[in-house]
Amino acid sequence: MRVLLLGPPGAGKGTQAKRLTGAFGACQVSTGDILRNAAQEETPLGQKAAAIMVKGELVPDALMIDLVAERLRQDDCRKGFILDGFPRTLEQADGLEGILKAMGSELDCVFLIRVPEAVIVERLEGRRSCRGCGALYHLVFHPPARAGVCDRCQGPLYQREDDWAETIRARLRVYEAQTAPLIQYYRDRGLLKEIDGVGDVDEIQNRIRQAWGEARA
Ligand code: ADP
Ligand code: ADP
Ligand code: ZN
Repeated sequence: MRVLLLGPPGAGKGTQAKRLTGAFGACQVSTGDILRNAAQEETPLGQKAAAIMVKGELVPDALMIDLVAERLRQDDCRKGFILDGFPRTLEQADGLEGILKAMGSELDCVFLIRVPEAVIVERLEGRRSCRGCGALYHLVFHPPARAGVCDRCQGPLYQREDDWAETIRARLRVYEAQTAPLIQYYRDRGLLKEIDGVGDVDEIQNRIRQAWGEARA
């Protein structure tokens, strides 16, 4: 499976990508996770990215394309990949095409997860992530058994700095201006599969798997 998940912040890309990896043996490539890890480790890339992420803006295309090129060449991506959060601009989409072509590979399809803005805000404001294993929770929709503690690894849960109301609005504007044009880009290439992103997590996972089945047929 070589696919990407497209959709606004909070659409459920990370949540759905994690479930697909288990079922299809493909690795999840989340550029947001890679950047947050780099920021945590205070690498030069991480320090640069952190200052951009906190404002809800985008890390420069050239940096992102290099980072993904390196990631997709690692062994665990050979069985397939699920890109989550990349590409986010037309320049990155062209970059991805180039990376895959050079590897003798191409995308199977693109899932666009659609959710109305009111749902996005609700999801982002309640999002919590595990510092230890990256598992995703939601205060209301998917709470951990014990408040503030990961069910899987007992790690501490935290709220992302960019999930505050002000920054959420900035990110939505960035999505509309810079990322939404990718919808037509992939539609033109016959790769786009639209998924209704409203409903519970399992329901949406089933919609994606059904669309995947259709894409392969
Ligand atoms: P969300 O899942 O809420 O959409 P991500 O975790 O994908 O957020 O990304 C968080 C932040 O990391 C973005 O707001 C942006 O600053 C940066 N980022 C992640 N992926 C990219 C990318 N492909 N290009 C540029 N910046 C990115
Ligand atoms: P994205 O990667 O697109 O930014 P996430 O997968 O991080 O989105 O999901 C954002 C928040 O919404 C998380 O707190 C997650 O637990 C929650 N969430 C994801 N999918 C659903 C859903 N179908 N119903 C309710 N909450 C959801
Ligand atoms: Zn955990």
